Amino acid sequence: MKDLARTLIVRPGSRCKLSSIDPAGTHGVSKRAADARLKKNLERLSVLQYLLYAEAGRALLVVLQGIDAGGKDGTIRHVMSGLNPQGVEVTSFKVPEGEETRHDYLWRIHKAVPERGKIGIFNRSHYEDVLVARVHNLVPKPQWSRRYGQINDFERMLSENRVRILKFLLYISKDEQAKRFRERIEDKEKNWKFSPADIKEREYWDQYITAYQDMLHKCSTEEAPWYVIPANHKWFRNLAVSEIVRETLEAMDLKYPKPVADLSSIQFE
Ligand code: AMP
Ligand code: MG
Repeated sequence: MKDLARTLIVRPGSRCKLSSIDPAGTHGVSKRAADARLKKNLERLSVLQYLLYAEAGRALLVVLQGIDAGGKDGTIRHVMSGLNPQGVEVTSFKVPEGEETRHDYLWRIHKAVPERGKIGIFNRSHYEDVLVARVHNLVPKPQWSRRYGQINDFERMLSENRVRILKFLLYISKDEQAKRFRERIEDKEKNWKFSPADIKEREYWDQYITAYQDMLHKCSTEEAPWYVIPANHKWFRNLAVSEIVRETLEAMDLKYPKPVADLSSIQFE
């Protein structure tokens, strides 16, 4: 299988033109091969998570961004399904409210960063503050434009403090979004996911694309890279995310801590 991490990464400093990426792309992988590989990845992820937890020296933070109906929830459900709930924390970031609005925008984010030994998953994140905040002028331009640098500084600080960061932009086409909205309207079991606000937000598609491209260009760094995941095909999306998370944990070379005592000398009745 092709090295998906190398193919899908946004190289630090490079400009990523989303129109040149096919959201329905599958990089030559068949659904059959992908499903088999996903299954293997999930088994391996479970072992790697156990090691991360046992080592308790480092954390992994997975950031998920994407347009409405982009598949953030589905990715969490499918890719993190084999993990031990004791070692994962999922945080979904909504419109800031109460205490959150009385602090800087990174305050609620920092509080949700996983502790050592754990995997943290952000369903939306501080990147909303350069996406929705920019598209809807929630803050003036001089304020949101400074945030790219602030975010890079924040993420570097985390990575220097043993938090490994992976960021995934789930990228679907406008047609695919329409299809998923229609399903939400037609399928009784998906009705609850439908929000009229999503239709309104769809009118800002092009502005979001511009904001995504700037985010990818300015905030894909060596220590916290962005990956653009073609996400029209859910099976490819799941495969790609699982592959990159697995490889990253693999490369961390996790080790069980040394026993706390000389176990060979221990005796008890
Ligand atoms: P959902 O992910 O469908 O539950 O929707 C959450 C909503 O919260 C989305 O419309 C986001 O754009 C919005 N949201 C999340 N973070 C922020 C933020 N920092 N500022 C403004 N809106 C946000
Ligand atoms: Mg929504």
